[in-house]
Formats: sequence, C-alpha cells, structure tokens
Amino acid sequence: MHALLDADLWQGMLAEEVIDWQPTMFQPVGGMDRIPAAFEKKLGSVVRSGAVVRSIRQSATGVTVVYRDAASGADQTVNADYCICAMPLTIVRTLDADFSPAVRQAIEATSYDSAYKVAWEAPRFWETEYGIYGGLSYLQQTVNVVWYPSARLFSERGVVVSGYSIENGTAFGKLPNVQAKLDASRQAIEILHPGHGKDLSKPVYISWGQIPYNLGAWVSGFGHGSGLDVLLAPDRRVYFAGDHTSHLVGWQEGAALSSYRVINQLGARVENGGNLAS
Ligand SMILES: Cc1cc2nc3c(=O)[nH]c(=O)nc-3n(C[C@H](O)[C@H](O)[C@H](O)COP(=O)(O)OP(=O)(O)OC[C@H]3O[C@@H](n4cnc5c(N)ncnc54)[C@H](O)[C@@H]3O)c2cc1C
Repeated sequence: MHALLDADLWQGMLAEEVIDWQPTMFQPVGGMDRIPAAFEKKLGSVVRSGAVVRSIRQSATGVTVVYRDAASGADQTVNADYCICAMPLTIVRTLDADFSPAVRQAIEATSYDSAYKVAWEAPRFWETEYGIYGGLSYLQQTVNVVWYPSARLFSERGVVVSGYSIENGTAFGKLPNVQAKLDASRQAIEILHPGHGKDLSKPVYISWGQIPYNLGAWVSGFGHGSGLDVLLAPDRRVYFAGDHTSHLVGWQEGAALSSYRVINQLGARVENGGNLAS
C-alpha cells in the first residue's frame, strides 16, 4: 500500500495517460530523422543545406534573408514576398532581424529546456534475463529513466539509453563533468539490472542545449503574458512555424500542425490581395 500511494510511482505510470502521449505510438523505421529526410527527398532542390541564416529584414513589399553558405563561406541573399521562419527561438534571437518590439520580446522571453541522453552499447541482458523488449523503466534517483531498444530484437547486442531527461535545474545537470554523468548513467543500469553495469561500452552523451543550431531541446515556458499568441500572428511579412508555435511543444506533430496553420494564414492573406484579414 505504501508503494502504491507513493507519488513518485505515478509519474512513470501516468506518462502514457497524458492526452498527447498515448500509446500506441509509431516510430519511423531507421530513427526520427527519417521523417525530415523523406520530406527532403520529395522537395529536392527546394532545400538548401548548409545555409546558415544570419539576417531577416523586411520592407513594405518583401522580405530579404541573408544566409552564409557553409561550404563556400560566401553570403547569399534571398528576396521573397513572405518568409516562414521555422528555426528554434534560441537561434532566432541571435539573428540580425527587424522584428517588431512585441515579437522581439516574445522571442526573448521564451525559455528552452536542455535535454540530454546517454546511450551505451551492451549485450541484450534486458531481453535474455529480464524478458524486456522495448519500453522504459523508471527510477527515483539522479538518472531516472532507462529506455530499451525496440529494434533488432533478439540480436546479440543493442543500444540502451540510460538517462533521458532535462539538465537545467536537475541533479544530473549539476554533476561536475561528463565522467560523473556517465557514472550516474551506469549506476541506473546497475540498480535495475545488478551486475550488468560493467557490460556497458561505447557511451554517447548528448546535451541538446549545446548542439549548434538547436541550443535547446524544446520550449519550457513562454514567459509572462501571451508570448505564444504573439508568435501565432505574423510580424508583417514574417510568419513563425515550428513545434514551439503549437500546443504540442517537443513533438514533430506540433511542427507539422504549425505548418498547416501558417499555410492557411498565408493562403487567406494572398487571396485577400496580400492584406491581413481584419
Ligand atoms: C531529445 C529529443 C527527443 C525528441 N523525441 C521526439 C520523438 O520521439 N517524437 C517526436 O515527434 N518528437 C521528438 N522530439 C521533438 C522534435 O525533435 C521536434 O518537435 C521537431 O524536431 C521540431 O521540428 P521543427 O521543424 O519545429 O524544428 P527543428 O527540427 O529544430 O528544425 C529547425 C531547423 O532549423 C535549422 N536551423 C537552425 N539555425 C539555423 C540557421 N541559422 N539557419 C538556417 N537553419 C537553421 C536547424 O538546423 C533545423 O534543421 C524530440 C526532441 C528532442 C530534443
């Protein structure tokens, strides 16, 4: 009874009851980035890779975007009637852009979590000894989740994620260095699967707050007031898209939904002779 009434128990139990997190979830074969890769394949030359946007400026008639071509180092300019800006706000706030004061304030006020993952290669002891085939185990300590692979079941070795959470303001984030983080990760496996901490090899630690062009994982808050509402409306000729402009922050579905919103907004405006609907 004590275990059942322990509030810590229910965090893991109730995760899948959150309305937007319900099973059965699908996963793309080959990993999450197969989804943008599939878009890229269809779009072909429309996509310009290695184009590092540096400025977004607009006039009464159009928008000018300057980007640096990563391969040549040369600046390139694109002029267009409208711009859909889908970069994370951690990046947008660093650009040379003439956004309105309200939009600038909303961008500045939005905070991001820094998520981390630690992954290891190991023999599949979770399958052979514990009968675990995918899914998660939750713990109530520094590294509080272990995520088992759901691909290549029954093969000899696999990649197990021991630690996937946020770093800002957490015990894990306060660990002094990468070695301490790897030790904490190994400890979680040792607690759940005694004797197997030593089987983990080839660790990979990623901290999204430090990944260039991300500089954060997902929005943690829009600041005071209605920052999200501000970003849902265009700033003159610039529209904002991305999961951070949806109610589904931290999900690709949110990013897709935001693109539908912008396409509809832009379509209505073009039909209205370029004027915003009153
Ligand atoms: C650790 C982690 C796990 C996740 N797991 C899942 C999951 O299991 N399922 C799920 O649905 N979602 C997951 N998400 C969320 C998902 O990754 C995002 O919701 C989604 O990628 C958002 O798409 P987006 O197009 O809005 O932004 P992004 O995918 O971040 O795309 C923004 C693009 O802007 C580019 N960019 C940045 N700066 C510049 C610049 N200066 N010039 C030009 N381009 C620039 C970036 O390179 C990037 O390609 C996860 C996120 C994290 C961090």
